[in-house]
Amino acid sequence: MKILKFGGTSLSNAKNFFNVVTIIEKKSQTEQVAVVLSAPEKITNLLVSTIDNRKDKKKISIIIDEIKNFFLKLVYDIKQIEKKIIDTKILEIINNKFLKLNHLFQEIYFLKKCPDNIKAKIICLGEYLSVAIINVILKAKLHNITIINPVKKFLAKGNNYLNASIDIKISQSKIHSMNIPKNHIILMAGFTAGNKKQETVILGRNGSDYSAAILSTCFKNSTCEIWTDVDGIYTCDPKIISNAKLLPTLSYQEAIELSHFGAKVLHPRTIYPLKKYNILCKIKNTHNPSAIGTKIVHNNYNNECNSIKGITYLNDVTMFIISSYNRNTMIDVIPRIFSCISLAKIWVIIINQASANNSISFCILTTESKKTLDVLNNTFEFELKNKLLKPIKIINKLATISIVNSNTQSETEISKKIFSSLKKVNINTIAISKGSSKLSISIVIKNKNVILGMRAIHQEIFSNKNTIEIFLIGIGGIGKTFLQQLKKQTQYLHSKNIFLKIIGISNSKNCIINPNGLNLKNWEENINKIQHPFNLQYLLNKIKNHYLINPTIIDCTSNQNIANQYVSFINAGFHVVTPNKKANTSNLIYYKKIRSALITSKKKFFYDTNVGAGLPVIENLKQLLNTGDKLIHFKGILSGSLSFIFGQLEDGITLSQATKKAQTLGLTEPHPKDDLSGIDVARKLLILAREVGYELELKDIKIEPLLPKELYKISNVNDFIIKLKDLDETFLNKVKKAKKSGNHLKFIGIINKDGNCQVKLDEVHKNDPLYNVKNGENALVFYSKYYQPLPLILRGYGAGNNVTASGIFSDVLRILS
Ligand code: ADP
Ligand code: ASP
Ligand code: MG
Repeated sequence: MKILKFGGTSLSNAKNFFNVVTIIEKKSQTEQVAVVLSAPEKITNLLVSTIDNRKDKKKISIIIDEIKNFFLKLVYDIKQIEKKIIDTKILEIINNKFLKLNHLFQEIYFLKKCPDNIKAKIICLGEYLSVAIINVILKAKLHNITIINPVKKFLAKGNNYLNASIDIKISQSKIHSMNIPKNHIILMAGFTAGNKKQETVILGRNGSDYSAAILSTCFKNSTCEIWTDVDGIYTCDPKIISNAKLLPTLSYQEAIELSHFGAKVLHPRTIYPLKKYNILCKIKNTHNPSAIGTKIVHNNYNNECNSIKGITYLNDVTMFIISSYNRNTMIDVIPRIFSCISLAKIWVIIINQASANNSISFCILTTESKKTLDVLNNTFEFELKNKLLKPIKIINKLATISIVNSNTQSETEISKKIFSSLKKVNINTIAISKGSSKLSISIVIKNKNVILGMRAIHQEIFSNKNTIEIFLIGIGGIGKTFLQQLKKQTQYLHSKNIFLKIIGISNSKNCIINPNGLNLKNWEENINKIQHPFNLQYLLNKIKNHYLINPTIIDCTSNQNIANQYVSFINAGFHVVTPNKKANTSNLIYYKKIRSALITSKKKFFYDTNVGAGLPVIENLKQLLNTGDKLIHFKGILSGSLSFIFGQLEDGITLSQATKKAQTLGLTEPHPKDDLSGIDVARKLLILAREVGYELELKDIKIEPLLPKELYKISNVNDFIIKLKDLDETFLNKVKKAKKSGNHLKFIGIINKDGNCQVKLDEVHKNDPLYNVKNGENALVFYSKYYQPLPLILRGYGAGNNVTASGIFSDVLRILS
């Protein structure tokens, strides 16, 4: 016997009803089938919302019309597909059901409340209509049908109308006594049962799974198949985590844990009866029947891949904290807390005890918080009144994330992974607890963080992927080169489990954003199609529901306005990587604001390309300082263009020719006066000086100007170079004079022992490490406590798109460290 349960997601429209019928027919060719049906998707939610809106008659009638129209259209569409169907009968059933529904609402209006027994009758309406519709389709196809009425045949225990449990033994005997012929297809509405008075009760949301499990125990040699809209049970809800992995097998206990802690693919009580009767359960996809699905069996021997089975979450959880003034009171109180809660049938999700401060906390679903508080207040009336217990503390808007694990030995390892992943996304854990079965670890966090937390933990445990999501601002030479380098390196990085995703690109006019990753083949065409300039809020709106792990903004502009937004970027959760020097050379107040934003939001800011392009300057300097070194003196050639120009002068080329050449080779800023002004070198020097702790402003850096003031006023580049000719002789003479003393003329930046910073043209001696630095090279010479008398020298190309882009690239990768 096969029990097939089809969920609402399998019954959302006429086409899906026929898919379901095809599966039923196919299965019934080899053995008898019993089919348990849910209401079509969303119908139960709508029915629940009629009750929630019971004070608003107009709204109720709108919702009821919506439900009725859904079924009328469904029947109409089904008739279009299968003309043989006699729809008059089914239309009559629909009309009757809605008439009854109206009567139930009359009762609610009269009572001015909706008791649970009426609620139960209302919200299972969809299940009955699903059965009625499948029945007519199958009859039209000439099948013999027996319909089981669960209110008559499934006996609910106790007097819970909304979350009932079923007495299996009595239900089994009632079904046996029906003596259903072997050639009949059996149909039954899921989600409901009947109590001793034969009143309708329901089994809790998603209860049709449980109905199917109970029905499976009523027949010999049965298997239970739960047909839904995903290929099986995954390591995480696949609708939330796109790279969740399908679990081909699970043990009963693992499935129980997953469903208990929120995997709504299975109703939490489904597995117990199956386990008790050792019934094989399969989870299958109605929309993809050939997929292998998940098998739930007694022992899951297929454990080799990962001992962690899955990650689930529960939203809207409330924490109760009960504390006393002394330990002895707590010893007496704790067992009473759980006995009163259990008597009230309130499900405690996790428990946490802190003996140091005589308190215990536990979490329940927020829907049960009023009931819980009432029960506690009643039970501990005396203790609360006499101040033996502190007032009960309640924390709302929480969520739990649970990790189901089949190997208790790896517990410490799992806890480590949970904490390291949550740390990466700045989520605080409010409590952590081990499940009583020892198969799960649960943490409590704020509701608003739950999806991000799930993603981060799943990433850490299952994919071990290091992901950075990049938004690139500025696509000039450096930005473009970075994208090219990234494209080339993608495969290599994948092999190392590193995934860099460009989620957005912006130029000065437009930006394109795709939180799932842009196609790097056609971004250039696309960016011009879209007319939306970059702004932070726009970016945040676009990525809002995507729960990025390491969102990073790379600023490849030299724009002050973008630099002014770094604090907002960081506060909004982005790491920042940039070659743009403007932020680090803005006033000290802003400089410090960036640093304190980094501390509060635990984000990273890397700007190694601010000085020496790809040379690892800042990071090295930071490491030296971290290990106790102290800068004594610094001198360096910090400008690639000026290194080139003064190298040329040594070879007898004039200043104007050398400048022209540097400009043609693309070594200078668009206007070479910006290099010759020395301001760029001054900025780099300021960044270094601030890094070692000198609290300076840009104006504190003394620049000895290379050229007379008037020259800097010439905005036309050609005119500027012509005018430079007037200085050619002076500069050749300076070079000659230096040479005579065995020196070279270099444009250098100096940080003195007392923090005085200068940018100037200077003669450097043969023994000076800067003596031979030319051709666009940079050299940085650090004399420090550890590095003296021989200094630490960093030397190499200090400009150019390739080296700068690769410097940015390594800064980006450092985010993962
Ligand atoms: P049905 O209508 O078939 O009962 P449900 O919506 O109740 O469907 O359950 C199926 C849904 O459960 C899936 O669409 C998926 O989003 C969700 N789900 C949550 N956790 C998991 C998980 N670990 N594996 C598979 N699906 C899950
Ligand atoms: N229709 C009910 C619900 O949505 C029962 C089920 O689908 O299992 O909860
Ligand atoms: Mg369900």
